[in-house]
Order: sequence, then C-alpha cells, then structure tokens
Amino acid sequence: IERAVIDSSKDVGTHYTVSYQLRKTLGYEDPAQFEAYGRMLREQFDRYIEVNPRLTKEIVSSVHTVTDPGRLCDMIASLLTVNIREKQRILELTSLKNRFEYLYQLIEKEIELLNIEKGLKDKVKQQMEKTQKEYFLNEQLKAISSELGKSRGVMSDTDEIREKLRCLHLPEEVLQKALKEVSRLEQMPPTSPEVTVLRNYLDWILALPWSEKSDDRKDFSEAEKILNENHAGLTEVKERILEYLAVCRLAKKIRGPILCLAGPPGVGKTSLGQSIATALGRKFARISLGGVRDEAEIKGHRRTYVGSMPGKIIQGMRKAGVKNPVILLDEVDKMSADFRGDPSAALLEVLDPEQNHSFNDHYLELDYDLSEVMFICTANIVHAIPKPLKDRMEVISIAGYSDEEKKEIAKNFLLKKVRSENGLSSSHVQISDATLMEIIKHYTREAGLRNLSREISKIYRKVARKVLEQNPEKKKACFRINMKNLSDYIGKPKFRRRVKASSSLVGVSMGLAWTEAGGEILTTEVCLLEGKGRVTLTGQLGDVMKESAQTALSCIRSRWKDLKIEKDFHETIDVHVHVPEGAIPKDGPSAGITIATALASALTEKPVDNDVAMTGEITLRGNVLPIGGLKEKALAAYGAGIRTIIIPEENVRDLDDIHEDVRNNLNFCPVSTIDEVFQVAIPSLGLHKKASSTKNNRKKRPLKRS
Ligand code: ADP
Repeated sequence: IERAVIDSSKDVGTHYTVSYQLRKTLGYEDPAQFEAYGRMLREQFDRYIEVNPRLTKEIVSSVHTVTDPGRLCDMIASLLTVNIREKQRILELTSLKNRFEYLYQLIEKEIELLNIEKGLKDKVKQQMEKTQKEYFLNEQLKAISSELGKSRGVMSDTDEIREKLRCLHLPEEVLQKALKEVSRLEQMPPTSPEVTVLRNYLDWILALPWSEKSDDRKDFSEAEKILNENHAGLTEVKERILEYLAVCRLAKKIRGPILCLAGPPGVGKTSLGQSIATALGRKFARISLGGVRDEAEIKGHRRTYVGSMPGKIIQGMRKAGVKNPVILLDEVDKMSADFRGDPSAALLEVLDPEQNHSFNDHYLELDYDLSEVMFICTANIVHAIPKPLKDRMEVISIAGYSDEEKKEIAKNFLLKKVRSENGLSSSHVQISDATLMEIIKHYTREAGLRNLSREISKIYRKVARKVLEQNPEKKKACFRINMKNLSDYIGKPKFRRRVKASSSLVGVSMGLAWTEAGGEILTTEVCLLEGKGRVTLTGQLGDVMKESAQTALSCIRSRWKDLKIEKDFHETIDVHVHVPEGAIPKDGPSAGITIATALASALTEKPVDNDVAMTGEITLRGNVLPIGGLKEKALAAYGAGIRTIIIPEENVRDLDDIHEDVRNNLNFCPVSTIDEVFQVAIPSLGLHKKASSTKNNRKKRPLKRS
C-alpha cells in the first residue's frame, strides 16, 4: 500500500502498535526513462518465466497489465523465488532507478541459477531413463527366454555365481578377474557360442580348491604303522619315506627334493604313493604322464581353442579338492617331447619350489599356488627321466622281489585283497604255500606282483562261480587249491623257469641282463665252424652288444698265447655268437665278458662252470668296466639257482643295496680284467696272473658277503 519506516513499536498483548514515517518513491520525474526501464524489466521477466516452469500464464499476463513503474517492480519482486532478505532489500529501495537496476540484476542471477539446475536435472533424468530402459529390456529378455523354454537364461544365475565366488575366499586378483568374466557373461546374448566357454571357465574357478586344506596327521608313529599295514618288506624304502615325512613335518614347508620311486612294474610304486598320502592324512590324486608329449597337456590350452581345458596338474587339483594333497606323477620317464613343446620343461615349473607358488595354467590365466602340494613321481627307468627333472628328485629304487618275498607278500596281503575283491572269504577257498610258489615260479615271470595277483584273481573267479553252483541244501565246501588241481583253475604252466644248465658246457656262458621288467639271465652260445674268419651274431642284438662281441673277439685274439690257442685261428674258422630267447631285444653295455668267456671256452674247448653267471663290459685291452642294475641282476641269478656271480670290481659298492637273503646266498667275485674272469669261469684253463698285468695279483677266490 505504502512504504513506511518504523520509529518505535510496542507490544500491547494481542498485537503490536507502532509509530512510523511514510517514505515516498522517488524519481517519477522522467517518464520516458521509466518507459524504457519498464520494457527492459518485462522482457527480462519473460526470459525468467521461460526457465522457471513454476509460474503460471495468468500471473504472467497480470504483470503485463501493471502500468505504474513502482508497482511493476514490487509485483515482479514478489513473484521471484528469491529469499526474504533480497525481497526486503527491494522494499527498502525508495529510488525507482535503484529498484529497477537491482531487480534486473537479481533476475539475471536467478535465470543463471535456474539454467544450471535445469542442466543437472536433465542429466539425472537421462541416466535414470537409461537404467530403467536396461531393466525393462532385461526383464523382457528373461520373459522371452522363458517363453522359449530356457527358463534359466544367461542372466538368471550370474548373481548366484557372484555370490559363490565371494564365498570362496579367492585371492583378490582371482576374484576381480572372475567377477569381470561374470559381467562379460551377463552382457552376452544367450545364444552366443562364447557363453558356454565362459560358463566352463567360471565352473573351473568355482570347482578348484583355492583355500581348502586338509589337516595333517598329528601322530607321527601312525605313519609308520600305515606304511607297514599296506606294504610288506621294502624296509629301506619305508625308512627313507619316514625320514622324508619327518623333515616335512618339522620344517612345515616341503622345499626339499621331490621323491621319485623307481622300479619295474608291479613292485608297488603307485600303491606306496597312496600309502604315503594316507600316512600323512592327506588327499591323494594320481596324474598319469605316460605318453604325454605336449606341453599343453601339463599347462592347459589357451581359452581361444575350441574345447580347451586346463592341464593335468590343475585337473589333478580339482580332483583332490584341497590345496595340500599328495599328487603322484606316474611314469615321468614315459614323457616325450616333440614340435608341440617339451612337457618336461612345463613339469619343471610345477616341481620347482621357487616357481610353483604361482603356477600359471594357460587356460586359467591366473596364478595358482602349488607350493603346499606334495609331489611324488614314479618311473620304470631312471635314466629315461629328463635330466633337469631328475636333478630335482631324490630317487628311491625298488628293485623287485625274490620268489620267497613274493610268497610272503601274497600270503599276507595279496590273497586277502584279491579274495575280498572277488566277494569270497577264507571259508570259501584256500591256497597252499607250495601252490603259491608254483604260481610264482611257473605262471609268472616278473619283478613285481601284477601277474601274480591276476593269476590269483583268475582262481578266485572260478571259485566264485563254483560257490554259486553248489547245491544250496548241502553244507558249503571249502575249495582247496593244491599242486594237483591248480591246472584246472589256471591252465598249464606258462613259463619254464630259466635255470642254470645242468652241467658245464663248452662255448656256453651265462650272462645277466637288466630290462625294464627287472633282471634276466641270458645264455650266450658260441659255435665254431670251418670257414674264413667271418663273425655272425644272432638273437635280436642291439648295436652296443654287436660292438661288445667284436671287441671280445679282438681281445681273445690278442691273448692267443695265454689261452694256448693258434695265433691265426680266425683264418680257418667262422664264429657264430647266438643269444637265444629272442623275444626281448638285448642291448646295453654289460655282455662283453659273457661273450668273451663263451668264445674262450669254445676256442680252448674247456667248459664254462655252470654255476657261474657274469655281468660286465670289456675293453680291447681286457679291462672290465662297471655296469648298472646289479640289484635286479642278482635277483635273477638267485632265481635261476646260480651260486656265483662275477661282477666288475667297481660295482662292489653296490652290493649293500642287494636284498639281504639274496646277498647271503650268492658268492660275488669282483674282477677287473678278463683274465680274472677266466680264472673263475673256466677253471680248467689253469690261468695264473702275471704280476705285471694286473693291479691285484691275488688268486681270485669267490667273495662271500654276509
Ligand atoms: P607299480 O605302480 O609299481 O606298477 P602297483 O602299485 O600298481 O605297482 O602295485 C601292484 C600291486 O602289487 C598292488 O596291488 C599292490 O598292493 C601290490 N604290492 C606291490 N608291492 C607290495 C608290497 N611290498 N606289499 C604289499 N603289496 C604290494
């Protein structure tokens, strides 16, 4: 109504009373100026209205009807959304010009603020619309796939996977990578072939043990008990295993060499590995490396390949289900390398304690910690293990069993095991000791126990059938297997046990060979024929053995005087050397002295002692070189009933490794020259050492070890 300034005020209870002075609006003197100001202000207000949607059209038109410049200012000021302080300030401005200018600026500022506000709102709105749109589309997609019968579409269980991943206690890096893959999976159309690939990948991550561990057995003495319960004999092997376990227990971390059990098939390497796991109280997994020739089989294929999978190591970990299992790498000597890469190099990464805490499988593309795994390897032939791998291993060799040992193992372990496998009990069937020995001697020829357990299983199968065919009325009979009825169950004997010749013969000597399946005795025959000095070698001989034969012949020729044979004997005769039992290819540098002995015997017509077997390589000058596999060879000689073995002097140190009962029942004759061999093997030659020709001129006499 009017502008006024309060002088004083008084509270009278129900209201205030004040005294005031009116303030007149100043500056009405220049109407043209107000016209211009008024126009500017109206235009400015119009712009304000455009950005402020809160003001209605009616209000706007009412502003345009006001003509008095003072009132126009007041009215516009009342419509602005500014705070009360600003409004009060306009009321206080008595100068019309000041009021116009102040108001103009105020509106300008307001327009700017409103513009910023609008920009922000638009942005938020856009964002909201996008998420809403996605949500809507996802819902539609779900509906479509459920219509198509795929009720669990790609999207439906990704949350579940995420949840599972979070519960697994994965290392941070693994978790992040896995979550990233889940998001990728979500964004894929369900029909994309990559969905299965990603799904498989996530399944692998979910199935692997990242943090689960089994507790080790606390009671160390239990370990020994368990080893003894599962395997007979093998005292030295068990002792070494127990020492190894003790160190592992005390040092907590296994950083030492990897155990490698080496020996012929069926001597219990794999089952010993299983027993070690039981003794430690750990989970067990077996990985067979036989025939592996591709690095990718160890380290996996990259995910870009169709049907790619992690390598055998990661597969083994999944099978074991814990981070600290015992993993048996079976047949490390049977790996081979080709153009696809060298698996042994990959295996090196697995076995090396410096590297295996971050084993990187090509498929997973993540570091996996193998440092808590206990690796045990098995091999048949130690020298076939790639050298860098062998360097990291502690080889424990198991040579094989003598017939008596086999009988004991069969009585105490195998019979019971095979019997229960065939659903029988001791009341159904019994096998006598003599029969067992017969099976061992004439139905099997092996260092281990595989065939023996197969033959026993054959007997039990037949018994099982008979048990069921029995008359149910009658009392159940117990089947007794003895020497008489054995052939009814497993047929005729399969092998003629190779035994020493019944008498001493000319031109026949007994050698000892080492094969993958254990030791063998090898008869070597030499026959002299009229001819022109040709040498014929037959009987599946390898190159090394052919050279040994040539060397032996030259060596004998150079000793014509000592042997009292004609100097030029070779000009009128042909020599034929034959090693019968041709099924097994024979190679390896250990037959030199055997061939030389047979030759010497044939040429001098003096018989070779049939109680003597020998092993050793020969040089042109008649020196005897050391050989390998003495343990197995001694076992074979013992099995054939031989009493004396000639061995190279340098192999005397290996005698301690030989089974005690074998060692005590054999005479070992260490020799360093071929003349010493002849002394023992062809006694009728009556050779005596010349003091100058040998280092050691004592007369050779068998050395009995006990
Ligand atoms: P490898 O792995 O050396 O070829 P395995 O471990 O498969 O041999 O053994 C073959 C069978 O012989 C198994 O059933 C095992 O129980 C048995 N066996 C081998 N050695 C012994 C032993 N010393 N005591 C008891 N059983 C044995």
